[in-house]
Amino acid sequence: MTPVLDQEKCIGCGVCVALAPKTYRFNDEGKAEVMAEIGDDDATVKSGADSCPVQAIVIE
Ligand code: SF4
Repeated sequence: MTPVLDQEKCIGCGVCVALAPKTYRFNDEGKAEVMAEIGDDDATVKSGADSCPVQAIVIE
């Protein structure tokens, strides 16, 4: 399960980072990004994506 995050859409709310902290993190510009090594299980990765208020994360 690979999440793809559109940083143009991200508003930096932090929901994905809070729900799946081993998958998503903030970059220096306050936008979320996907970590190179995903440490959460699939349900957690999906939960973070599904909870994004601006649908910035798509699961491939
Ligand atoms: Fe950005 Fe969406 Fe994550 Fe919020 S939940 S930080 S808007 S990617």
